[in-house]
Amino acid sequence: MMPDPLFYQLLLVGLVWLCLMLHVVWPSDRATAGRTTPRPAKAPRKRSHDLKPFPGLTRKPPCAACAQTHAHGPQPPGCPPPRLVPTRGRPRQVNTSSHFCPHANCDYQGWVGLGNISANGHPNGGPWRQLHCSSCGGYFQETHGTPLHGKRVAPEKLVWAVGALAEGLGIRAVARVFEVDPNTVLAWLVEVAEHAAAFSQYFLHDVRVTQVQLDELFALLSAVKTGEVSDAEAIQRLSRSPHWVWAAIDPVTKLLLTLDGGDRTLAMAQRVVHQVVQVLAPGCVPLFLTDGFKDSLTALLTHYGQWVQLPRRHDKGPAPKPRWMPLPQLLYAQVIKTVRRRRLVRVRHRVVFGTLETVNAVLAPLGCQINTAFIERLNLTIRQHVAAVGRRVSTLCKGEDGLQQQLALYHVYYNFCLPHASVRQPLLQPEATHGTGSAKRWQPRTPAMAAGLTDHVWTLREVLLFRVPPWPQPAEG
Ligand SMILES: [Zn+2]
Repeated sequence: MMPDPLFYQLLLVGLVWLCLMLHVVWPSDRATAGRTTPRPAKAPRKRSHDLKPFPGLTRKPPCAACAQTHAHGPQPPGCPPPRLVPTRGRPRQVNTSSHFCPHANCDYQGWVGLGNISANGHPNGGPWRQLHCSSCGGYFQETHGTPLHGKRVAPEKLVWAVGALAEGLGIRAVARVFEVDPNTVLAWLVEVAEHAAAFSQYFLHDVRVTQVQLDELFALLSAVKTGEVSDAEAIQRLSRSPHWVWAAIDPVTKLLLTLDGGDRTLAMAQRVVHQVVQVLAPGCVPLFLTDGFKDSLTALLTHYGQWVQLPRRHDKGPAPKPRWMPLPQLLYAQVIKTVRRRRLVRVRHRVVFGTLETVNAVLAPLGCQINTAFIERLNLTIRQHVAAVGRRVSTLCKGEDGLQQQLALYHVYYNFCLPHASVRQPLLQPEATHGTGSAKRWQPRTPAMAAGLTDHVWTLREVLLFRVPPWPQPAEG
């Protein structure tokens, strides 16, 4: 029970505060209501801060990733050597057009499809072919430079184990199913992830998109799930934690432009935007949709900004300093969600750069409004497919749960191996199936196919056996 004097003191303070507030609020209301002068016709917008033009930055935000890599990925050492046409021997039976010579002393090293590679057969009855380079006379295996090279484990077992990892089984679970040591599975995963990252870099470039949805999700939601802390509190507390998964997706083709793990900071947002820029075609400035994370704005400005000399406001005095402003074609909108007790109570849209009309003009042909629904659907998929994100967190080494590696693997698996229902195409002629089921009416397509990066659905085995060339190859034709 509260002692009475204290209670009355509190009551008094409360009443005084109430009076003050009423005094502040009322007269202004009456003044506006009673004003007789005609006011300029203005849309009754309450959220005036939405309409305030962006003042610009006085400094160009630095990007750590840009500072590290000067060039855009690996560059070819020069022009490719001339194509070789075989003049002797039998016509070639085995297609070697995707192979390249790995030998450093060879003029044809790293170049694909120049006719210098021939297939020899399987030495000692092994599972892999031996390939021969007619330029340098060197020999190498068809698995050279892939995760399957030099492995004593049966190739199928390795492919299945990696498939299980890509489907969301944890490292320990995979170790149990395939009866191998967990450290072996981790070693496989590390190697496969490196390969997957190179694979993504090789294929994902010069992509043209009209919009990009960017989001970050927290990997380990256990504290939130058990209700110990609220979502907002958890985000506040866990911002520095390195367990955020950042994803950028093109909602049209469903292509996952980048998938990365890290903290929830400006530096990380900049790294993600940097990766998106690497994937997009030069000069492609899409509409960006993000959540309300404040540093997303600065991260976008890092790569989509320019210096602008503002006009003088006064006749006298020094000219205003130039400001770092968004590119005129940059469109950026935020979807701000208010969550209370794990329930969505309000969704607010905020056009940050550009106008609502231009943003809607981009979205209208797709039949949608400002939203981040696609990426939120993806978040769920990632939770199901990346064990380190989902409920089963298998930590092998302290602080290293294989999150980065699983993300790199899933990035390729999602883009190239998993057909996405929303980008499938109807077949002109329904194909009869072998069983008693109904005829096949759809052509399955992956996001990478929808984006025009590849022409078929890749199997994981194909991905693992693909020898990624060390630099981009000239387009065929
Ligand atoms: Zn060679």
